This record gives sequence, structure tokens and C-alpha cells, in this order.
Amino acid sequence: MDIEGVGPGDSRYDTLRAGFNLAVTHEPALIVEARSADDVAAAVAAATGERRPVGVMNTGHGPSVPADGAVLIRTGGLSGVQVDPGRRVARVEAGACWRDVIAAAAPYGLAPLNGSSPDVGVAGYTLGGGVGLLGRRFGFAADHVHWMDVVTADGRLQRVDADTDPDLFWALRGAGANFGVVTAMEIALFPVATLYGGELCFGPEHSDDVLQAYLAWACTAPETMASSLLLLRYPDDPAVPERLRGQHVTHLRLADSGDDAEAGRTLVDELRAAGPRLVDTVRPMPYADVGTIHHDPTGTPVAAFDRNVLLRDLGGDAAAVITKLAGPDADAPFLVELRAWGGALARQPAVPNAVGGRDAAFSLLAIAGPPAEDRAARDRLLAAMEPWSTGGSYLNFSGVEHATTLAARHYRPDDLTRLRALKDRYDPGRTFSVTFPLDAAGG
Ligand SMILES: Cc1cc2nc3c(=O)[nH]c(=O)nc-3n(C[C@H](O)[C@H](O)[C@H](O)COP(=O)(O)OP(=O)(O)OC[C@H]3O[C@@H](n4cnc5c(N)ncnc54)[C@H](O)[C@@H]3O)c2cc1C
Repeated sequence: MDIEGVGPGDSRYDTLRAGFNLAVTHEPALIVEARSADDVAAAVAAATGERRPVGVMNTGHGPSVPADGAVLIRTGGLSGVQVDPGRRVARVEAGACWRDVIAAAAPYGLAPLNGSSPDVGVAGYTLGGGVGLLGRRFGFAADHVHWMDVVTADGRLQRVDADTDPDLFWALRGAGANFGVVTAMEIALFPVATLYGGELCFGPEHSDDVLQAYLAWACTAPETMASSLLLLRYPDDPAVPERLRGQHVTHLRLADSGDDAEAGRTLVDELRAAGPRLVDTVRPMPYADVGTIHHDPTGTPVAAFDRNVLLRDLGGDAAAVITKLAGPDADAPFLVELRAWGGALARQPAVPNAVGGRDAAFSLLAIAGPPAEDRAARDRLLAAMEPWSTGGSYLNFSGVEHATTLAARHYRPDDLTRLRALKDRYDPGRTFSVTFPLDAAGG
């Protein structure tokens, strides 16, 4: 190929083709380390010239299908972030992570619509929707993008916004990886300098009470409150703090962005009353510490098999089903996160986009390791939640196993029809196929 890159046999090939999530092994024909938008355009042009697919990897947190035979563009070398505090916006390049934007915005008392992990890439997260700790208050990250610089399948670098190309701009925000490589974008920032946030952890004997209390509480919590519940059995490992070691623990992760910290404290006190806490880190904090709330794993790559289902209000015996299949007595070899949606996530943004799932009250994300029996146990829980399912599934929480058949669950039916027509228009050769495909049969 008439372009510089790292191919099989090169000593850096294995390092560069692996990202954070090792659930997929990519075997690209060439890996291009982009340092500019022009590098990206050249890589796309070279790939299309040889009829090869194009894949993009920033952190590797969100794999879908293998990038076999593809030109894989690594974006980590293109990671600038510039904040304009007067306009409350940030210009963010393709390889930036939320950590970079949070740090750049904080000195101005501003916050982006990041998710739970500061190590996730801004572009990948935003192109898939982006449900973060300010989401119930302001909406999906994709709802607050002003423009994107994109290399499309024809190799052209263009600025796309609601005026220049409304169709492409609509599709990029929700199904972006199917339509091009974003080299930079402008996103809105919000005046949030502090949170009342942190984590409450409860032991196995209180798991059921906490789950019941949380479900009732989450239905009435204000839109300033972000919350999720995590069920997890810790390994009996000296690296785990003694009070958690070997235990099944129910975590509540909470972040109130309202101006009145006392009101936040009162709300959290209702949950504190659910039982004695093994850990209680909920406190006033600078927004810049938002990553400590979920303290998602960082650094060491893992093979994680994610699946999710979007849920309506969890009445009836929903709590009992979750407890049976993922509670302390289930010995579930997977972790479960139930996250409250609603609020601004349920509303259409000022400039509509392709993001689905606005009818969900909760997402349920279940993550298993490689063993087949662990994944089967995870799937039993997901199947048992079908009575509460909206029929939807959230793209950013979707894993590799059913990647080629998920499109119908990621989008509203009319939107999927429109996305497929736009895919035919903007990417007829299916250059951007290293992602969750929109085509019925898997692209
Ligand atoms: C620990 C953890 C916490 C998370 N928390 C949240 C959360 O709170 N909320 C939420 O909504 N999601 C969350 N996610 C999911 C995350 O948003 C997705 O996995 C997202 O796709 C990751 O983007 P990335 O760039 O970091 O990963 P990558 O694997 O590098 O990229 C993911 C996909 O995005 C596409 N992509 C990336 N960059 C570009 C680009 N510049 N142009 C075009 N396509 C691109 C590619 O198709 C790529 O395959 C979390 C994931 C993990 C592992």
C-alpha cells in the first residue's frame, strides 16, 4: 500500500493492534498512526484504493468486529483539546480521552458530558450516543456536538454540521463509526464545577433491601442526580481491600450536580438508610474528580464480553429476578450495572440525531469474562429481563458477540431505515465496516 504504517511481522504490530478490551483479536493489513487529519484522509484513500475496510481505534474500549484485512487507523497521536470558556465549547481531536477534556475545562468551572471512565475516548463515546453523569440533566453527549470534521469514504475531509449536511450530521451522532473517521469536533461544555458524589457499598445481607430501595428512589430522583447500581462479587485476592474481599457487594454510584449540596445530601441519606455501608465516599467534590465515582478499571487490558438491554420502569418482581440471577446467592460469574436513564436522555435534542433508546428508564449492562459458562449465566439474566425490555439495546454498552445483528435494537425502526439509506449514499462500498453494521445481514 502506498502509505506508511505498521504491518504483520513488524515488532510493534501486536502492541498497536491491541486495545483495552481484548475480546477481539484484530488482524489488520496495515496500522496507520495518524498525527493529523491529512494522515487520516491519506489512510482512508489508500484503503479505498485497495478496496480494504477502514477501522479506527483510539483506546480500544469499544471493539465490535475484527479489523481483519483492514487499514486500522490509530488516533492516539491526534489528541489536542482547546477550550473556549467564553463560548463554553471545546474543540476535541480524534485521539483525546475524557480525562483530557475534563482537565482542560475544570479551571473555567466547566464540565463536558463525559461518562463513567475518564479513559474512554471522546469520539468513540460521542459517536455512539454517550450516557454520562450529567446525562439526565443535559442529554446524550451526541446531543451537544456543534460540528464534526470527518473523512468520508471518498477520502474527503469536510466539516459537517446541521447546515452543511443535515443528513450526515444526523447519522454521525448515534451511528458515526459507520459513516467516516472523525478527526475533530466541537462539543458544548456546561457550568458544573462541583458534584455531591461518590459511592455507597453494602454487604450481601443487605443486597435485596438496597436494590428495592434504589429502584423506588431512582424513579423519583431529580434530573440533577445520576445514579447506578453495580452487583459484583470480589475475588478472594489480597489485592482487594479486606472489607470487600471475597464478598458479593452492592455498589451505588451517585453524582448530584445540583447547586444545593445539602439537597444532594438529603437525597443520598435516603439510600444510606438502606443498611450499614462497607464504604461511603459520597462527598462534595470538584467535577474534575468525577472519575473516582465509578473508579472503572484502567490500565491493564481485559477480555470483557458486554451485553445490555434497555428497560422500562422496573416494577413487579424485577428486583427479585435480578437478585435471583445476579445477587449474593446466585454466585454470578459476571458483573451487572443497572443505570438510571430518563430526564434529558428521554427528550429529543434541539438538532435531532440518530441516537436510540430515549424510551429507556434504565440500562442493564452485564459483563462476563471469556468462559462460556460465565457468558451463559449472564445471558440467563438478560433473557429473564425481557418482560421489562423496551426492545432496545445501547450501542456503547454492546459487546462483540452479537455485533452483526444488533442494529435493529440500537435504533428506532424509522431511523434504522433512514440510516441504511444514508449508508448506501455515503459509504456504498462499505469502507467503514469495522463497527456495528447497519445492514440486516451484518454488512
Ligand atoms: C470502563 C468503561 C466505561 C464506560 N463508560 C461509559 C459510559 O459511562 N457511558 C457510555 O455511553 N459509554 C461508556 N462506555 C462505552 C464506551 O463509550 C464505548 O466503548 C466507546 O465506543 C469507546 O470509545 P473509545 O474510542 O474509547 O474506544 P475504541 O475501541 O478505540 O473505539 C470504539 C469504536 O468507536 C469508533 N471510533 C473511535 N474513534 C473514532 C473516530 N475518531 N471516528 C470514527 N469512529 C471512531 C470505532 O468504530 C471504534 O471501533 C464505557 C466503556 C468502558 C470500557
